[in-house]
Amino acid sequence: MKTIFLVVPCYNEEEVLPETSKRLNKKMKQLKKAGTISPESRVVFVDDGSKDKTWKIIAKLHEKLPQMFDGVKLSRNEGHQNALYAGLMQVKAHCDAAISLDADLQDDIEAIDEMIQRFDEGNDIVYGVRSQRETDTFFKRTTARGFYKIMTHMGVEMVEDHADFRLMSRRALEGLSEFHEVNLFLRGMVPMIGYPTAEVYYERGERFAGESKYPLRKMISFAAQGITSLSVKPIRLITSLGIGIFFTSLLILLYSLIRHLTGHTVAGWTSTVFSIWAIGGLQLLAIGIIGEYIGKIYLETKARPKYLIQTWLHEEPKQPEPEQPEQQDGAAQG
Ligand code: UDP
Ligand code: MG
Repeated sequence: MKTIFLVVPCYNEEEVLPETSKRLNKKMKQLKKAGTISPESRVVFVDDGSKDKTWKIIAKLHEKLPQMFDGVKLSRNEGHQNALYAGLMQVKAHCDAAISLDADLQDDIEAIDEMIQRFDEGNDIVYGVRSQRETDTFFKRTTARGFYKIMTHMGVEMVEDHADFRLMSRRALEGLSEFHEVNLFLRGMVPMIGYPTAEVYYERGERFAGESKYPLRKMISFAAQGITSLSVKPIRLITSLGIGIFFTSLLILLYSLIRHLTGHTVAGWTSTVFSIWAIGGLQLLAIGIIGEYIGKIYLETKARPKYLIQTWLHEEPKQPEPEQPEQQDGAAQG
């Protein structure tokens, strides 16, 4: 029997946690009862420096059901990727595999059974892949599609329509910990680990309470983070652009010489002004992109910690859990 930990990053999730914990508790109980997972299996909530009552709720859950809920509190808000990574690193020594999922349960927890099945068949990484995107707004759907397209063009290997709902074996987690980069983009990093992998399809639901912590601004910066963390293609594009513009300028030189020699020496004010702006703009763009990479190098050389853990609520497993009466659902009331 395998010990499976569910890792759930939470940022200001007081609205969803009571319901989420109730559903996860039910699911885990069912899996434990069926003998699919060991009694030591746990749900681990990672509080990513929330400003609301999230940690209070987590602490209470742990107090009431220490054999079911663990809590990790980060010292401050580090972002989804770092919080998830922190949780995975914290549990990897205690489990056979960890499954990451969002606190809003947009990822269908019924897919967990199949994930574990694939894991038992010998897969180290099992990706949860969305079978459809109907529940998304048209806007989110198209931006997401564009995002995958751009990423693939930029040479980043990614599983399409897979977010961060995935199972990773202890071996895969150890592998992930060998990646020392500070700029985390897990969706792009995990495929680089290798090992046997599988995919499980599920339908992604809507957030049942609270609001998305990923507004458009964050989504764009997330995409830029993904590209600049994993690909040097943009820099190469700049080089090609530079070469292209250089040859164009030779043609323009030829043209203006001919104009000069044939006596049409009216000063080309329009083209001059245009060139100044065009070239100036391109140069700034190029410098900006290169600056982005230099910024990354700067952060990587500093090798700052990706997260710091303030509190860890974890009970070492003793005996198998005694039969919990149904009233335990009240634990979810934070
Ligand atoms: N999250 C986090 N830190 C942050 C932002 C988000 O840990 O700084 C968590 C959040 O609590 C949730 C998950 O990341 O469990 C995904 O966030 P959300 O559901 O808001 O994103 P969406 O599903 O809209 O892309
Ligand atoms: Mg969500």
